[in-house]
Amino acid sequence: MSTPAATAAIHYRVEAADLHAHLYRVTLTIAQPAAPQRLSLPVWIPGSYLVREFSRNLQRLAARQDGKPVALRQLDKCNWQAEGVASSPLEVSYEVYAFDNSVRTAWLDTERGFFNGTSLCLRVHGQEKNPHALEIVSPVPAWEAATGLPALKVNKRGFGSYLAADYDELVDCPVEMGRLWSGEFKAGGVPHRFVVAGASASFDGERLLADAQKACEAGIRLWHERKKPPFKSYLFLLNAVADNYGGLEHRNSTALICSRSDLPRRGEVRASEGYTTLLGLISHEYFHTWNVKRLRPAEFTRYDYGAENYTQLLWFFEGFTSYYDDLLLRRCGLIDDATYLRLLTKTANQVLQAPGREVQSVAQASFDAWVKYYRQDENTPNATISYYTKGALVALCFDLTLRREGNTTLDAVMRALRARCKAGPMTEADFAAVLKELGGRSFAREIAAWVHGTRELPLKDLFAAHGVNVNEDPAQLQQRLGLRTAEAGGSVVVKNVLRGGAAEQAGLAAGDEWLGVEVAGQGWRLAKLDDLLLYAGEHRKLTALIARDRRLLRLELTLPAAATTWRLSIGDAARVQAWLAHGA
Ligand SMILES: [Zn+2]
Repeated sequence: MSTPAATAAIHYRVEAADLHAHLYRVTLTIAQPAAPQRLSLPVWIPGSYLVREFSRNLQRLAARQDGKPVALRQLDKCNWQAEGVASSPLEVSYEVYAFDNSVRTAWLDTERGFFNGTSLCLRVHGQEKNPHALEIVSPVPAWEAATGLPALKVNKRGFGSYLAADYDELVDCPVEMGRLWSGEFKAGGVPHRFVVAGASASFDGERLLADAQKACEAGIRLWHERKKPPFKSYLFLLNAVADNYGGLEHRNSTALICSRSDLPRRGEVRASEGYTTLLGLISHEYFHTWNVKRLRPAEFTRYDYGAENYTQLLWFFEGFTSYYDDLLLRRCGLIDDATYLRLLTKTANQVLQAPGREVQSVAQASFDAWVKYYRQDENTPNATISYYTKGALVALCFDLTLRREGNTTLDAVMRALRARCKAGPMTEADFAAVLKELGGRSFAREIAAWVHGTRELPLKDLFAAHGVNVNEDPAQLQQRLGLRTAEAGGSVVVKNVLRGGAAEQAGLAAGDEWLGVEVAGQGWRLAKLDDLLLYAGEHRKLTALIARDRRLLRLELTLPAAATTWRLSIGDAARVQAWLAHGA
């Protein structure tokens, strides 16, 4: 008897080929192939804007039909053509090397398995709209599996067959396997499940569930007020490791990675800084369920899996999501006003300390994400601006302007945008139209200046209008000198030299080892950057001793007058609360 999964037009069987070699074996059966049949592996995964060439990990590709080998012609780095006939099923088998412990690709060892369909599932050209069945075979008897895909026939541990409506859904539902901690809660009347891999005995799962539930409820309330969210269930896949951080959004799930020490611990009363960061990540990825997975750039109406998908709108989809992630934590009471302002202070200083904000607009930064944001180097702070951090401040500027003028809030704009675009493709013109409609005037000037311009945002005015004080504190020495360093084992290495700063003027460069200084005729070895002030005293003129390419250089450096950074604080508590505590 054949199961429904076996009769699906496209069927993938995923099993471990070798845990120690980190190899999956995939068997793809195409019931009614084309002749010839084209197959390809995506070059990128939606949500992470970099061409990653997943085919680099694919090997031993072979095809068979009626028990006989079928010739496979490789067309380019990620496209193949099976030279078979159309009259009988085509079976394609291959291995995928999986040893990247991130949320974007795939992993397999004796402790854990994880994969995205973009890494493991060849696309069958011409049949993308057909149902795709995924059969997952348990690599280790005690393991469990979890995925957002609809189950077709699975056992208690989650292994068996799942069925995606089409290729897009298949690759939008990552799979986690291993010895998993698992817990559930309801938000907006909908079941939510949290699975955690890699947690230690101190992990307080009940606390994570309770706090995540609050954050999810706040997100649902923002988008739907009292109505239900647009999914039947939601799944958080969290991988706890020694030291990492990140997340990737999907339509009814998210894959997260965090440091083990950031998990809430039993007996801990106050949320640690790391745990607050993790809650922000949870809130962020969950918000994407609406903002980029449903409401999305018009350019993402249909993904092109074979090339870069350009959009100017990441400032909206990543930036506005970044504005709301911590704000929703405040609204549901997981953090207080002072903590919120501390997190916002960090974002503001990150933007204010990046000279690239005068070079690139957030719309340009969005478009260039593929070659700039995702390919950072020593020049990144000088040439680019983050569409996450500045995008969050642009969202804040719109929200505070709308609130000051008294007609509406950004919450109402987000809901109206979702309604106008039918929770689907959106353009900048849609955003402009909704702002005009709800705000009672055109915001073309603000969009031109904040989104497409490089001048400073009117943060100080807007903070003042909402009861927030902007305090100017003395900056760290790095900021004062205009550089960033890495310090370890008594050695100071220059990471970035910031445009227009004292370090650039003196001639320091990224990669330089800063060995020492000469001040008033005395020479000193530098073990850490802050020692500079110990040796310089009141002197502003000094000589930096630098090693570059094994050569020793003496560079004349003038220590600039003290620089400042921002610290936001509560000026008028009632006005701050009116902004932070109330959506509308
Ligand atoms: Zn994001």
